[in-house]
Amino acid sequence: MNRTIKISLYLSKEQEATLKDTSLKYAQVFNKVVDYSISTGVTNGVELHRGTYKDFSNREFLPSQLICSARVKATEALKSFRTKSKKRTIRVEKQKEQGKKRLLKSINKPRSKGLLSIRYDARSFSIDFKTNIIGLASTSGRIKIPFKTAQYYWQYTNGKVCSADLVYSKDKKRFFVNVVMEFPDTMLPDPIKILGVDLGINNLAVSSDNKFYLRPDLRNISNRYQALRGRLQSKGTRSAKRHLKKLSGCENRFHRDVNHCVSKNIVRSAKLQGYDTIAIENLKHIRENSKLGRASKARLSSWSFAQLQTFLTYKAASAGIQVEVVSAKYTSQGCSRCGHIYKPQRKGNEFHCVNCDYRNHSDLNASFNISKNFQVSRGLSSGAYGDTFAVCGPSVQPAYCDRFVSSNTHISNHKPTNLFVGS
Ligand SMILES: [Zn+2]
Repeated sequence: MNRTIKISLYLSKEQEATLKDTSLKYAQVFNKVVDYSISTGVTNGVELHRGTYKDFSNREFLPSQLICSARVKATEALKSFRTKSKKRTIRVEKQKEQGKKRLLKSINKPRSKGLLSIRYDARSFSIDFKTNIIGLASTSGRIKIPFKTAQYYWQYTNGKVCSADLVYSKDKKRFFVNVVMEFPDTMLPDPIKILGVDLGINNLAVSSDNKFYLRPDLRNISNRYQALRGRLQSKGTRSAKRHLKKLSGCENRFHRDVNHCVSKNIVRSAKLQGYDTIAIENLKHIRENSKLGRASKARLSSWSFAQLQTFLTYKAASAGIQVEVVSAKYTSQGCSRCGHIYKPQRKGNEFHCVNCDYRNHSDLNASFNISKNFQVSRGLSSGAYGDTFAVCGPSVQPAYCDRFVSSNTHISNHKPTNLFVGS
């Protein structure tokens, strides 16, 4: 399990100049390796090293560890460049067959145009969280720099130091370092008590313990972003573009915040009730199966469920809970009590089984199915239906709270009871 600590540096003018110089030279090595690989067709890391190292072997240019690190970074970038190019070629051929005129754009080779973030390994940097001093290899030898970290990260300073990335933020015109700390993996238990979680856009998540995680103002906020984006895009001026960039940052941070809150609350609730496993559906299904209006679709496509899954997984892991992905087959159409599958049984938020007359909120019904699918896939349940999963009985009407979270205060003063409402 890894955790990343973000630290900001107190740099003197000279140190800042040194780091900029180092970063530019690092980018030169990166670009050189990319060019060499593309012109010669060499992809193997060792051969790339042999082919390019001699150009920079003058030690005054860049410490050798950083030359190697830039080469590794270039090798990785080249690998993903080649994969993407291959995919593009296949798709372009298809497009040509279909007689399309506008073909997919070609993919640009990796190139660093300015300061490239430097990856340090355990040998090229050192960090001391007692004195708050970090030592970084640079063009003027190893420089020692005082730093600060936010209090939140203090809990992670006792891990094993792995690597660090020196990043220059163009917006803030400052250097930051992301330090990766390693912690031993906790052994996750065998699944016994399983919580099914259905992800969606109206209810961001609904869990099989009858809890609804939603943010009632999400629709308004998303619509506001979208409308503003539309207006700015149609304007197209330079200032509009600048504004757009800022907007996308705001929106990303908003999504991130909501995803953090939802995942945190799901894990907290699961932990309190002694669940050892959280089952979620395969994310692909969310987009494919949703029959939604245009506005909801736009909101859905911009929402990052993958991020929610990532947050959920790591937060759960640190609480000793595992997250498992299960097939999403018929989770929304099937009855969780009798297993009868029939598409029209679900109408919007309502699920009504035509076979056994079972009624429930459709997302809640889906979360029962997810939990059940997981148990069947692991051989924990025979798949026979009874009313074990329909724990909440007929006609559950979830009562929604006003806000499940307020964005700024969720860390310090939120009681779990305020965050979600079940029935
Ligand atoms: Zn039924």
